[in-house]
Amino acid sequence: MFLIFGIKRIGHKKVGYGKDYCNSCQNEAVVERYRWFSWIHIFFIPLIPVGYYSHTRCTICTNDPNAKVRTSLWQKVLFLMVIAGLNWVLYQDGLLDDLSYGLAIKLLAMLMLLGCGYWIYRGRADVSKKERRKQLTPVDQKICMMCEGEVVVAKKTHCSRCKLEVF
Ligand SMILES: [Zn+2]
Ligand SMILES: [Zn+2]
Repeated sequence: MFLIFGIKRIGHKKVGYGKDYCNSCQNEAVVERYRWFSWIHIFFIPLIPVGYYSHTRCTICTNDPNAKVRTSLWQKVLFLMVIAGLNWVLYQDGLLDDLSYGLAIKLLAMLMLLGCGYWIYRGRADVSKKERRKQLTPVDQKICMMCEGEVVVAKKTHCSRCKLEVF
């Protein structure tokens, strides 16, 4: 006998919407938040509760607005060190001197090193997500975007008609 089991999502629904900066498409976008409850099912019968999960989706590109799309600084520095090491090896006396295209390889390696340095330098100007969030124009706090019901501004701002949270 074989066992069929896995994760079953129950009550998957939209619970809110709001403005955010989307990392995936790099736009200021309306994002939707979904929430569901996960169960481990055996033969499609939910048996073990796992917990609540939520997911945010960008309405422009449908991807995760918090997705990690940028290379982090330490990854760039690591890359720079690898290229610097490569340069050091290539510029050793005699290694490439017998090759007719040895000089071209050396120059290419040097260009890669410079390019990488510039890449790190440019990255300093990148605005953090936190900064971008401060600049967002908020969504309408009076009329619900989804159902045109009245929005109630409270600790947890929500629409009085469709109950979606507005953030
Ligand atoms: Zn997007
Ligand atoms: Zn509504």
